[in-house]
Order: sequence, then structure tokens, then C-alpha cells
Amino acid sequence: MSPLRHVDEAPAPQRPSPRGHLLNERTADSYQTSVTEVVGRLAQWIPKVDQPTSGITAPDLAADVNRVDLERPLGDMSEALDEVESLYLRDAVYFHHPRYMAHLNCPVVIPAVAAETLLSTVNSSLDTWDQSVGATLIERRLIDWSARRVGFGANADGVFTSGGTQSNLQALLLAREEARARHLGPGDDPLPRLRVFASECAHFSVRTSASLLGLAPDSVIAVPCDDERRMRVDHLAGEIARCREAGLIPMAVVATAGTTDFGSIDPLGEIADLCRSRMVWLHVDAAYGCGLLVSRRSHLLAGVESADSVTIDFHKSFFQPVSSSAVLVRDRATLRHVTHHADYLNPAHTARDHTPNLVDNSIQTTRRFDALKLWLTLRVLGADGVGALFDEVVDRAAEAWELLAADPRFEVVNQPRLSTLVFRYRLNDDSEPWLWDRVNDGARDSLLSSGRAMVAATTVDGRRFLKLTLLNPETTVQDVAAVLDLVAEHARAAEYAELTTTP
Ligand SMILES: *Cc1c(COP(=O)(O)O)cnc(C)c1O
Repeated sequence: MSPLRHVDEAPAPQRPSPRGHLLNERTADSYQTSVTEVVGRLAQWIPKVDQPTSGITAPDLAADVNRVDLERPLGDMSEALDEVESLYLRDAVYFHHPRYMAHLNCPVVIPAVAAETLLSTVNSSLDTWDQSVGATLIERRLIDWSARRVGFGANADGVFTSGGTQSNLQALLLAREEARARHLGPGDDPLPRLRVFASECAHFSVRTSASLLGLAPDSVIAVPCDDERRMRVDHLAGEIARCREAGLIPMAVVATAGTTDFGSIDPLGEIADLCRSRMVWLHVDAAYGCGLLVSRRSHLLAGVESADSVTIDFHKSFFQPVSSSAVLVRDRATLRHVTHHADYLNPAHTARDHTPNLVDNSIQTTRRFDALKLWLTLRVLGADGVGALFDEVVDRAAEAWELLAADPRFEVVNQPRLSTLVFRYRLNDDSEPWLWDRVNDGARDSLLSSGRAMVAATTVDGRRFLKLTLLNPETTVQDVAAVLDLVAEHARAAEYAELTTTP
């Protein structure tokens, strides 16, 4: 196309200059209009959400998303929001819906959502004091508060992270460096000999971390669990001993306080005693179980105070929007392993001057002020308020278990400690195991396509099961009963389909 404009070509429509979209003292009105429009639309949308999702398939939705021409801006907020409504809001998965029971996602508390607007608008970055000021102090207060809830002493410290995965990675990085420092001989890097012990029900991020940390491919040893899916401490002791005999170095034990599938809590006190006597770093992954810190069931976490590090996911059981997580350490000196000084950011003298630069504690640099969400939540609802919400879902899971255990249509695996239930639809006893698997997976898939309820699926002892994760205090026992009816209906249809198509 010719760069010269033809004289009678129509002029481009009037649009505010790009600068008009920058937030500053001149655009406060436009900011208010745009953000208010978003809030207004959502306030009308949320009451109309009548099932957890639409059930649309990825190819169908992808066609709509891919049709958008990113080279042709709409230039208008309302039009762009209409588009987002059709590409996102219409089919989104709504965790606040009482029949969403799939993964560890919670409905969010309103003060935390309000805080999101605040923290994005000011846009502080928590890496250094000179990019955050009060935000750094607020995060530090919350780290201290969380550490006190855990039962750590005055030397505790920590930092907010993007999630449990990052918290686990950072904790294991500290453990690796501690083990390495103790075992570094002349000319011998102990890295390939380091071993991590976690139960067979631990989160997969432990393995991801080991791989990122350069440990050997077989460095994570899966310790067997008892019938209640808790780590067997006798087996742990045996594995640590076997490891030492083979000339390997036990680097860390990861105990899980709330396994993702079963909500089971490893025997923290006994594991802590063992770790102390064997001089092994203890990391407690309480990504899910951390809600107990503010609940009337806090005794279930007894022993966590003896950990060297703890992962807490506020975005799981504190009803916080994604992301909000923290890693805590009992001894702040161990955080030196992630401290690196950059002349342009946090030069060494800032540490000597005690300038609070949280990048010194973190594996991130630019970092969101997620802590503000928890801060506003605690200042409005209080810790007891959050705990009461979590207690309600744990109560609900206990009631749901009674329902399931008495229902001949289903077989239930675990009596919940927290708020998950693993179960499956029963077939005739003489049905082949693969048919049980296909029927249960089929039931989950077709229920998801209907969008009327959402449950998860997992594998237990090699067989496929379904899972309810309850994190919504608004979910009633009647909701659970209705979802079980739906599961049974879809399972019967799946079984019929299998039996009529299999020769
Ligand atoms: C969810 C979960 C994680 C990972 O946390 P993210 O916030 O999803 O990164 C780690 N451990 C356990 C036990 C979890 O349930």
C-alpha cells in the first residue's frame, strides 16, 4: 500500500490518544468510568450464573478467540468488554457456584477482591523498599503474623510467593544449600547424592522442584502411606537409614499437611522428631491445610512448629484470589541462600543499613503486593471469620461422607480430615476393572460437558476414582446429594454406552 494518503480518503475515526489510556492525575475520571463499568457488569453477571461452567469444548471456544484480530483494536472499552463477555465470562468456570466441587479453588472474599483493584492501581513492586514503602511493611507484618500462627519463634521470616509450587521450590532450594554446605568436601559436589523424602501422596511440585534444583532423576523417594493416606514414619526412618548406608545424603523430608487428593495430614510431630534426630531439613507443605491455622481444628497441625520451612496457600483455604501464597522459615538466616545483591537494586550496603528489601528473601524480582488482599481480609473479617468459613467446609465434607458411605451406588475411599472425598460409582462386582475406570471417567467427562456440576477425577492404587473438593461454605448437603445424583445418572449413561459399543 502506498504510504501517501489519497486526498479524498475518509479520515480515521476520532479516538483518544494512547496517552488518554494511561492512569494519572488527568485520567482519574476515565479510570473511574472504566473500572466502575467492569464492576457494574460483574455485579449484574454474577447473579445470573446458574451453573459452574457452560461445558464448551476447547476447539469450539478457540475458534472464537482466534477470530479476534489483534491488529485492529476496537478503541472502545465497552465494545472490548462485550467481546470479553463472549470469549471469557460466558463460559468461565465459576468457583463460587455451589456445585463446583472439582479442584482446590475457593470462592473469594469481597475485601480481597477490592484489594486487587487497589494493589493493581497503585502497582507497587515488593522487591525493594524504594518501590513499595508501606507495602513492604504490610507484607512483613503478615509474614510475622503467619509465622506466629505456625508457632515459629522470633527468628522466623519468609516471603509471599506466586503459589504453593513456588513456595515448595524455594523451601527445597534452602534445604539443598544447607545440605550442600554441610557436606561439601574437597572436589566433591554432593548434589547428585542428595535425596528428598515425601509421601506417595505428596504434591507433584516436589518432583518438579527436585528437577529444577539439579538433583538426580531418582532423588525424590516416595514413602508409603497408611490406610488413611498419611506418611508411614517407620518407612521414612527405614528409607533415611538405607539412604545413609548407600552413601547418599538425606536433604529434606517433605511432610504434607493436607494432601491434594485426600486432605490427609502426615504425622507432623513424629516426623519432626525423626528429622531432628537425623539432622534433616523438614519442610511442611500446608498449601491446602493452612486454613487450619485459623480454624477451631488448629490442633490438627500440631508439630508444624518444628518444621524448618512451611508452605501456605492463602488462595486455597483463606478464600483469597489467585495468587496469594507464602513460604515461611523458622530461621531467617537460611534465607541468605536466595540473597543476591545487584548494584542497581539492592546493593549490599542496603542490607547492612537494614533497608527492608524483600527481594533479599525471594526468588522473584518484580513482585505483586498480594499481601494486601490478606491484610484487608483480616482487617474486615478477622482470622476467626476466615477460620469459620474453612470450618464450615470441613463440617460439610464430614456430612457428605456420611451421605456417600450410606449410598449403595458409590464406594468411598477416605473419611475426610479436611474437605475432599474420593469415591467411585459402583458397577456389578463381576465387571472388569477397566470398565469401572471407563464408566467413572466417562461420567466425569459428560457431567463436565453438561456444565451442571464439576467434580474431579484421580487415580488411587491404579484405578480411576472421582473426587469432590469442597471449599465453598455456601455448598449445602443438598447440593452434594444433587451432584451425586447427577454423577450416577451420567455413570449409568456411560455404562450403557460402553456395554452397547463393546463387542
Ligand atoms: C495446590 C498444592 C500445591 C501447589 O500450589 P499452587 O498454588 O497450585 O502452586 C502444592 N502442594 C499441595 C499439597 C497442594 O495442594
